[in-house]
This record gives sequence, structure tokens and C-alpha cells, in this order.
Amino acid sequence: HERIMDAHLAPYYGQGWHQRGVIVVLHDITEIRRLEKMRSDFVANVSHELKTPVTSVRGFSETLMSGEVTDEETTKQFLKIIHDESQRLDRLIRDLLNLSKIERQKMPLNLETLNMTALVHEVSVTLQGAVEEKRTRLVLPDPSKDVYLQGDEDRLRQIILNLVGNGINYTAEGGTVTVSLKENVEKVRLIIKDDGIGIPEESLPRIFERFYRVDRARSRHSGGTGLGLAIVKHLIESHHGEIEVESREGEGTTFTVTLPKKQEDK
Ligand code: ATP
Ligand code: MG
Repeated sequence: HERIMDAHLAPYYGQGWHQRGVIVVLHDITEIRRLEKMRSDFVANVSHELKTPVTSVRGFSETLMSGEVTDEETTKQFLKIIHDESQRLDRLIRDLLNLSKIERQKMPLNLETLNMTALVHEVSVTLQGAVEEKRTRLVLPDPSKDVYLQGDEDRLRQIILNLVGNGINYTAEGGTVTVSLKENVEKVRLIIKDDGIGIPEESLPRIFERFYRVDRARSRHSGGTGLGLAIVKHLIESHHGEIEVESREGEGTTFTVTLPKKQEDK
């Protein structure tokens, strides 16, 4: 392992100012450096992500203002691009603010006893548009079987929304996304399985990083910012839970979220 050390050396003297030796203090600053690098990478990534939509909003609006485009069809098409890109900007900024709030842990959990089965069903209603558009078969847990846990409703909703949303997004038309719930005395397990494009093995360790996308071009096209899973991971950790992923390219992906039923008072 490479280590970065901060070294301080000072001579020490005996009687009559004879140098007797040197005191060396070593600080291992590997971790600090790693965090600094992460921060500057992050800033570079954010700037890049913001630049792309801003460039196209500017480009297309300048073209429209120049009066060069006269037919209605093209005008509409350009306006749609401007509209889509500004929505993308809006989403990016909202996700970033969210993430930074979560990371600074400024948002204490609003704990309640919740029925996960009901929550999964409620969230899937908001995904109905995407489900219909992609003709996805969305299989949900048995609505008559309640599974309770203590958690923050809004955040659990967001976790489910992001994971099921990904399942639908990264699965071809007519694919299947299965959401199931399991429980034991202490824990609840939320499993989201799809038979979609899968994630290449070398990308698996990186998908929870901010802005990481397996296929940048495709994900950006589908409106992805690459922040979804980073947010999910933080939200799960704030619930003292864990997330695991298993995937095979071309076969599908399974995300397993394990959450404790009771949140300890801290
Ligand atoms: P968004 O921030 O809008 O969610 P995103 O979906 O691109 O954008 P993440 O949800 O963080 O970002 O996912 C990161 C990447 O992991 C995706 O771009 C995609 O390449 C890959 N990925 C995530 N879920 C799946 C899945 N179920 N099947 C295949 N690939 C996936
Ligand atoms: Mg996503």
C-alpha cells in the first residue's frame, strides 16, 4: 500500500550544545489526502455535469434568437431540447443539495413505524408512467402481508423509488422487475431484481460513487445523473442498514437492502 507521510524532524542537543540526535514525528496523512482528492474530483465532476446542459441551452437559444430558424417544426424541437436540458439541470441541482444535506447529516431521521409492503405499493404507483412506457412487468410483494419496521418514510420512499426506477430504466422493453420483502426477528430485507442489461463486473465496486455511470452516454440520454445510488447508499446507512448488489451482464441485477427493524436511540 502506498502511504503518504508528513514528517517533522528536529535535532536535540545534550550538554554544551552537542547534537545528540534527531526526533522524528511521522503523521500518516494518507486518508486526508484521499479525501482531498475526492473533493477535488467531485468539484470537477459537478462542473462537467453542469456544463453539458448549460452549453446546449445556450447554443439552442442563441440559434433561435438569431432568427435563422424559421419553420415551426424545428423551433419546437429546439424549444423541447432547451426545456429538457433545463429540467436536467434542475434535477442535478436538487440531487446535489440533497446529497450534501444527507452527508452533513443535517437531517435527523423522522422515525415512525411503517408498513414496507404498503410503501412499496405506493411508490410503484408513482412509477406507473415508466412502467407503461416500457411495458415492464412489475411484480410487487403480496399486499396482504404486512412487514413493519421503524424508519423515515420519505427516505425509505426515495430508496425504493431510486432502486425500482433503476430496475425499470436499465431493463429492455417488456422486462420484469420483481420487488420482494423478507423478514426475520430483527431485520427486513428489500430485494429488487430485474432481468435487464446488468452491470459489468469491473463496474460493480463503483456504482455507489457519485456520478458513476456504466454507460455515460446512454444513462445521460435516459436522464440519469449518476447520483441515485450514492443517495440510496447514504440513506440506507443513516438507517444503519446495508446494501448489496449482484449482477451479470445481459442477465440482470439484484439489489438487496437489509434494514434493522428497530432504530437504536442515539
Ligand atoms: P440517477 O441519478 O438519475 O439515478 P443513474 O440511474 O445513472 O442516474 P444511479 O442510479 O446512481 O445513477 O446508477 C449508477 C449506474 O449504475 C447507472 O448509470 C447504471 O449504469 C448502473 N445501474 C444502476 N442500477 C442498475 C440496474 N438495475 N441494472 C443495470 N445497471 C444499473
Ligand atoms: Mg438511477
